[in-house]
Amino acid sequence: MRTALKRRGTRLTPRRDKMLEVLVSSKRHPSASEIHEEVRRFHPRTSLATIYNTIELLKEAGQLLEIEFSGAANRYDGRRSHHHPHLICLHCEKIEDLDSVDHDEPLDDLSSETGYEITGRRMDYYGMCPDCQSGRTVQP
Ligand SMILES: [Zn+2]
Ligand SMILES: [Zn+2]
Repeated sequence: MRTALKRRGTRLTPRRDKMLEVLVSSKRHPSASEIHEEVRRFHPRTSLATIYNTIELLKEAGQLLEIEFSGAANRYDGRRSHHHPHLICLHCEKIEDLDSVDHDEPLDDLSSETGYEITGRRMDYYGMCPDCQSGRTVQP
């Protein structure tokens, strides 16, 4: 990521650098405001505009995968920038990577494999995670 940004002439400020760190270390597929919150713990005066700005730069450089939602904040995967399937819980908005999936597999089989009650298929799979089904999480 650092090299890709530098190659495009982007100055790596300490804030940007921290943001890259957050993106690479988070498995949670954070939203822009979650990234913002995390960066602000170290650089309290970072603006949300800086975060969005850097997200755009990283997307242009092909270093960041954006997971789009209608009606909810987009989420980002900085660990794997190529497209890959996700398991998405519509209840608690948890997003997990879903690896080695046969896309022709019946949804029922996938449900029993993952524990998700899978209700749909896009490039991503979404539904309700085991925690939500058992009422262990509160709706955000
Ligand atoms: Zn859930
Ligand atoms: Zn992912």
